[in-house]
Amino acid sequence: MNTVSLPPDEWRCGILISRVPKDGTAYSESFSLPLDAAISHWGQEYIPAEPIHADIEASYVNERILARVICRAEFTLPCSRCLAETRVAIFGDLRYLFTLSGEAPEDDDEADDGDVDVIPVDAFESEIEMTPYIWEALLLNLPERALCSENCKGLCHICGYDKNIGDCGCKEDNPDPRLAVLRDLME
Ligand SMILES: [Zn+2]
Ligand SMILES: [Zn+2]
Repeated sequence: MNTVSLPPDEWRCGILISRVPKDGTAYSESFSLPLDAAISHWGQEYIPAEPIHADIEASYVNERILARVICRAEFTLPCSRCLAETRVAIFGDLRYLFTLSGEAPEDDDEADDGDVDVIPVDAFESEIEMTPYIWEALLLNLPERALCSENCKGLCHICGYDKNIGDCGCKEDNPDPRLAVLRDLME
C-alpha cells in the first residue's frame, strides 16, 4: 500500500461562504473521504479501515466564520508490543476562525481563548477549502502507539515468540553471575 503524508488531491471539502446564514445559525456539511493509501506519521503507517468521515459546522461570529471540524476515522496499525494488527478509532474536534477580509487577525477575544486558530481568507474568495483542516484534525489525533489489549504480553526478547499465545520457555531474566557463584559455593 502507498503511503501519504498529505491529503489526496481528490479531496475537495469546500464550504461556500454564501451558504452560511448571516443570522448566526449554523450551516453544516458532511464529507465521506476515501483514502486508498496509508498515512505515514510518527514513523509508522496507519492503514485506513474505512473512508474518513468529516463534519463541518460553520456559523458567522462578528463578521467572521467560525468553523468546527469533527473528524471520525478508523485505522489499523501494529500493536506496539506484539505487532498484531490493531484497530484504533480516531476522533478529532478542532475549531477555526476565518477572517473574511483577507487581513491578518488583530488581537481579539476569539483569538485569545487559545484553542481557535485564526485564519485570513481573501475577500474575493467564495469558498473556504477545509481539506487542510480536516487533515490536521486527523493527524493530531493519530495515537503514537496502539495496544491490541491492555494486557498484551508482547514478544519474547530472546526467541520472538508471541507470549499472548503461550509460554516459549525462554528464561528472560538474566541471573546475576555473582549470585550464581555464591549459589555454587553453598551447594
Ligand atoms: Zn499486542
Ligand atoms: Zn522465548
